[in-house]
Order: sequence, then C-alpha cells, then structure tokens
Amino acid sequence: MTGDDDTLLRILLVEDDSLDRASLMRALRNDNHGFYIVEASSINSACVLLELHHFDVVLTEYQLHDGSADTLLALVNAMPSNRPAVIIIGSYGDDVLARQCIFAGAQAYLIKEDIRPPSLLSTIVQAKQHAKQWEELQTEAAHLRVQAEHDALTGLYNRHVFDETLRNCLAQAERYGRAFALLMIDLDQFKQINDTWGHCTGDILLQEVACRLCSVTRDSDRVCRIGGDEFAILLPEILNHRQPAILAERLAEALLEPVHTGETNIIISASIGVAIYPDSGTTADMLLRNADKAMYRCKHRESQANINNIVQIWPTLPG
Ligand code: C2E
Ligand code: C2E
Ligand code: MG
Repeated sequence: MTGDDDTLLRILLVEDDSLDRASLMRALRNDNHGFYIVEASSINSACVLLELHHFDVVLTEYQLHDGSADTLLALVNAMPSNRPAVIIIGSYGDDVLARQCIFAGAQAYLIKEDIRPPSLLSTIVQAKQHAKQWEELQTEAAHLRVQAEHDALTGLYNRHVFDETLRNCLAQAERYGRAFALLMIDLDQFKQINDTWGHCTGDILLQEVACRLCSVTRDSDRVCRIGGDEFAILLPEILNHRQPAILAERLAEALLEPVHTGETNIIISASIGVAIYPDSGTTADMLLRNADKAMYRCKHRESQANINNIVQIWPTLPG
C-alpha cells in the first residue's frame, strides 16, 4: 500500500461471503468520509495482509470458513505498536461471544443485521480512537513498571524485585525439592571512594560494577542492586555448592580490573557472601542473614589480610 493518502483510514475488511462483503463495502462507500479499503475473504489472507501492511481498523466477521477472528486478535495483540482497532461482526443473541471478543481486545462488536452506514462510521472512528488511547495507556503502564522494578542509576532490578524473586525461588525450591543460591556482594570502602572522588565518580563506579556483574552472569540469573553499594544475585537452581562458588569467583575476578572514571583509575574490591537453600537456611530471613554473615566474614578477613574479593559460603559447607 504505497502512494495512498495518509489521512484516509485504512480498513481491512474480512468477510468470506461475497454478498455480505459487497453490502459492507456499500455501507462504507456510502459515507463521504473516505476509507482506503482492502478486502480479504479468509482469515489466512487477512493474516498475511496484516503482516505486510499497516491498517487502522480491521472490520471482520467473527467466523469464517478457515477460522475465527480470534486468530486476527491474537496477531494484532502481539504487535508491539501501531495496532489496528478490531471490530468484530457477529449475529444476534450471542452475548457471550460479544463479551469474549471485547475481553480478548476487540474495540467493538457489531450485529450484522443492525449495521447502518452512519453508526458504522462512528463505530469505526471511535474504535480507532479507543485503540490509540489503549496503546498509550499500555506504553505508560510499561514505562511505570520499568521504573517500579529497576534501579534508576544502574538499570538493575531493585530491592522490591529482589524480595519478590527470592520469595519465588523459595516457593519453587520447596515445591520441587531443589536448591538455589543467593550471592550478596558489597563493595569495600565505597564511602571512602565517594568522599575522595565525589558522588559522580561513585555513580560511574556503581554503573560499571552493575555492567560487569551482568556480563558474567546468565540472563536467567537475577542481578539486583539492593542498597547503595550492595548487590545481590539469585541463581534460581543449582545442583551443588561448587556452582555458586564458581560464579562468585568469576564475579570477583571481573571486578578486579581497574575502573576508568575519567579522572582516575580506581581499583574496586568487593566482598561476596553466598547462602544456599536449604543448607544455609530455609526462610528468606535466614538466607539473607547467612549471606550477610558470609559477606562480613570476607570483609573482616580482607581488612586483616588485605586480600580483595574473597568468597565465603555460610555456614561453611562441604562441596
Ligand atoms: P548467558 O547465559 O546470559 O551468559 C552470559 C555470560 O555469563 C557468558 O558469556 C559467560 O561470560 C558467563 N557465563 C554464564 N554461564 C557460565 C558458565 O557456566 N561458565 C562460565 N565460565 N561462564 C559462564 P559468553 O560465554 O560470551 O556466552 C554468551 C551467551 O552464549 C550465553 O549467555 C549463553 O546464552 C550462550 N552460551 C555460551 N556458552 C554456552 C554453553 O556452554 N551452554 C549454553 N546453553 N549456552 C551457552
Ligand atoms: P564452569 O564454568 O566450571 O561452571 C560449572 C557449573 O557452574 C555450570 O555447569 C553451572 O551449573 C554453574 N555456573 C557457572 N556459572 C554460572 C552462572 O553464571 N550462572 C549459573 N546459574 N550457573 C553457573 P554447566 O551449566 O553444566 O556448564 C558446564 C561448563 O560449560 C561450564 O563450566 C563452562 O565451562 C561451560 N559453560 C556453560 N555455559 C557457559 C557460558 O555461557 N559461557 C561460557 N564461556 N562457558 C559456559
Ligand atoms: Mg547476562
């Protein structure tokens, strides 16, 4: 569809009965509004057209010989943006179907026998408007969800998501008799870095740490920022104690590389504590406390022996 007037509403008319289709075309053409209409006589051909072209409105009979409008609704709902409004045409007495179509995302449900040109026009215009408003609301809701779930500085999941994921891990592990691991990572002397180099440098450092933590973990592991310089990672399923320890060692190694902040190169040191369900604890509280204990034991050893990035599991467990 090229070279068309962009102000015209683009309608995909889907109807397999040629007489009904001709009657709908008449009703649409009767109006001076001017529509750009493409006809499809099957659900399959409508799907192909929807994938190839942009339409403002899909006006479709509910049941066609090769399928129902549910297929078109699913296709439209899966579009990331610029979705057409869907208007379903059904018959008398099917209130349940009408409700189902609206719940499934259709903007309107018309009774075939009642279709008259003036009301059809206003339904089409309103449906297009509803679809646009709905999309704006969805975009806004998605944006708010991202804000509510992520830490603004690093883009990592925040404390709220961490708590929820930990609850889910516990429920799944309990139900299926699995083990999972919680890694608690705390940067050493971060306050000193902030005091010496300023908060901007501190922020760059936190962003770099977040990047490094993500780059050496799996997408299926949940990396969160749960406090100022505190990060936590959940490994939803492990088979033995070596697995989180292998990752913790890789994390520690990834953090060793100095961070270039523009002003200076800063060497980061972090303490990592690991807790494992069920051996370190069987509640969120116990796991958090034991991961913290393991982490503070690292900090203590680091301050005594000046060793960076030590990994501890609490309580000390066999491998
Ligand atoms: P991913 O699963 O999101 O993992 C991201 C990065 O985390 C990997 O980047 C690697 O640096 C680190 N990583 C994750 N799991 C392990 C592990 O068991 N051992 C080690 N040493 N490092 C690990 P990388 O290697 O560039 O891989 C990029 C993506 O390629 C991975 O993303 C994953 O989707 C895929 N991939 C790579 N190797 C394998 C593999 O052996 N098995 C599977 N199923 N996928 C793999
Ligand atoms: P490996 O690096 O010695 O890791 C041993 C096991 O530790 C892995 O067994 C996995 O169960 C656990 N593990 C290690 N890193 C991660 C991690 O980032 N996240 C999670 N959730 N678990 C981790 P697995 O999966 O059977 O992998 C066996 C070996 O295959 C790994 O030994 C590594 O050599 C290689 N591998 C697997 N995935 C990747 C990957 O994405 N990137 C790279 N570079 N190597 C991978
Ligand atoms: Mg990743």
